[in-house]
Amino acid sequence: MKQIVIISGKGGTGKTVITGAFAALAKDKVMADCDVDAADLHLILDPEIKQSYVFKSGVTAFTHKERCDGCGVCKTVCRFEAVREDFTIDPISCDGCGFCSLVCPQNAIEMKANTSGEWFISDTRFGPLVHARLGIAEENSGKLVSLVRQKAKEIAESKNYKWIIIDGSPGIGCPVIASITGVDCAVIVIEPTLSGLHDAKRVLGVTEHFNVPVKVIINKCDLNCDITEKIERWFKDKNIKILGKVIFDKAVVNSIVEGKTIIEYSNNQVTKTLRTIWRLLEEELERAN
Ligand code: SF4
Ligand code: SF4
Repeated sequence: MKQIVIISGKGGTGKTVITGAFAALAKDKVMADCDVDAADLHLILDPEIKQSYVFKSGVTAFTHKERCDGCGVCKTVCRFEAVREDFTIDPISCDGCGFCSLVCPQNAIEMKANTSGEWFISDTRFGPLVHARLGIAEENSGKLVSLVRQKAKEIAESKNYKWIIIDGSPGIGCPVIASITGVDCAVIVIEPTLSGLHDAKRVLGVTEHFNVPVKVIINKCDLNCDITEKIERWFKDKNIKILGKVIFDKAVVNSIVEGKTIIEYSNNQVTKTLRTIWRLLEEELERAN
């Protein structure tokens, strides 16, 4: 079984469109949407949720008022000013350090696990999808990404699937690290802008640090041919393969509006390029066996 993650230096480069295309083209696969802060793979895969689970992460203090005698020790020790005048806890300010709970003489403060989001196992017309939704302003997306990947792996192993196709998190933070570690190939999607190249270099730094093999797709390559050439040269100098260049086409936006992958929506130049890219990637990863 091989794991491919599609990533980008920032959001909005077409990463999910390319993940959707691979989902449509690959046989025997499970998909994982690891862009948990802004999950949108479901918009084109239209999942039917089969199983849903609560994601718990971190703890918050909670005062059992009936046990509290009002001694005020908790308020004295809390450095986050999370203990209110009546000794209940402001959950937004509480850092979850647990100090108040430790010192309370009445054992009146309980540390309760936070519900930080949900994760799902769904059916799609292309096979199973594991995806998640992180609560607003919730942290620990790296932990949720790892959970989504672990579940996708369990499904792939139990069904003897060949591929795990992962829509990775954009950027260089904790969730992208959780998205890329241990994969067989990270495909970086780049748009031909100077900031696009700059962002891609930063994400490449992360993949190199974690020893993840990388290939590149330049998306909307005809929007700025000079920068596309510059990106090509830069990656060729680093001996990193450019899998292909995808032109800009309004059909891509229309396909998303209709909730389809571009492969299903059209048989245009974009589709042909993406078919060639997938074939190339598949062959190279199979050869790497
Ligand atoms: S330390 Fe315990 S008993 Fe004292 S005020 Fe706080 S919650 Fe109440
Ligand atoms: S857990 Fe820590 S941050 Fe939260 S109320 Fe208690 S002392 Fe304050």
